[in-house]
Amino acid sequence: MQQGMPDLLGFSLEELTGAVVALGQPGYRAKQIFHWLQARGARSFDEMTELPRALRECLREHYQLAPCEMADKRVSPDGTVKFLFRLGDGETVESVWMRYSYGNTICVSCQAGCRMGCAFCASGLHGLRRNLSAGEILAQCHAVRREMGQPLSHIVLMGMGEPLDNYENVLRFLRLASCPEGLCIGQRRFSLSTCGLVPQIERLRGENLGLTLSVSLHAPNDVIRSRLMPVNRRWPIAELLAVCKRYAEGSSRRVSFEYALFRDVNDSAACARELVQRLRGMLCHVNLIPGNPVPERGFCRSTPETVRRFAFLLGKGGVHATVRRSLGCGIDAACGQLRNSRLGGEHIEFG
Ligand code: SF4
Repeated sequence: MQQGMPDLLGFSLEELTGAVVALGQPGYRAKQIFHWLQARGARSFDEMTELPRALRECLREHYQLAPCEMADKRVSPDGTVKFLFRLGDGETVESVWMRYSYGNTICVSCQAGCRMGCAFCASGLHGLRRNLSAGEILAQCHAVRREMGQPLSHIVLMGMGEPLDNYENVLRFLRLASCPEGLCIGQRRFSLSTCGLVPQIERLRGENLGLTLSVSLHAPNDVIRSRLMPVNRRWPIAELLAVCKRYAEGSSRRVSFEYALFRDVNDSAACARELVQRLRGMLCHVNLIPGNPVPERGFCRSTPETVRRFAFLLGKGGVHATVRRSLGCGIDAACGQLRNSRLGGEHIEFG
């Protein structure tokens, strides 16, 4: 983004009204601009043809629209499409389009890079570059919708970055994307995935948004989880599950636990039984994912038989679990992999 120029895409209708009035324009212009930005996904002020030319010029002098240019696009045979977008300052982020029986889902990124350092994740390899603004997260939705020519029905915050590490911008994004005058995606159609920032989950609980909380668990105990996810050293499993329980009880929505299975790391029968002990009786669901191998980290995917056995043992113990269908094989669809494969050739070497 251009330094110092506010990004109008991240403005609420109230803020936009204030900005328009401050420019000496009638308030109703704000509604028109908001519609162009949030519902129609305009990429430039020139597209807003019902605005007087002088107003468009004036907007251009004072504001900008966050650039989000497509830098790469890969289509998987199963229809999943992965996008790499270049932002105004050259940072790149990924978004994924997935088609499910219940509608079109986009997975967006909320940070360029990530500082959480999960051992199995490509996004964390380069650390955190910066937070994305609400407008930059929204711009991914508009760009993908435009490119696919179809409406969006669900949004998952599960791309690059830790959403709760960019709390204010993510909340602003959620409010804008669910706004009836904008993309109008009901808040119950959002899933927010976190690696387990306990205080922020507690704060999110107080927002009463109705979205699905998805927690990357990936281990049944602190020894394995701390090895996979450094965040566990700060907020161990017991604390994490306690706040998840409060979230589920407060919202009457089950918490979704993501569990990526890696061979000989967290996929044993003993791990499954330990997980049952942890989760039994809780309003939750476990998504088992055959872990996407990240060659740089040396993690291998569990075999389909092991995944099935793990799911069976959870079910037998009374914990609801499903194996998530792995979308996007062959297009680097795991978080951070497309960006990484591009960065890999340019900047980094792995021994
Ligand atoms: S898995 Fe998520 S939280 Fe962990 S490093 Fe990757 S992007 Fe960050």
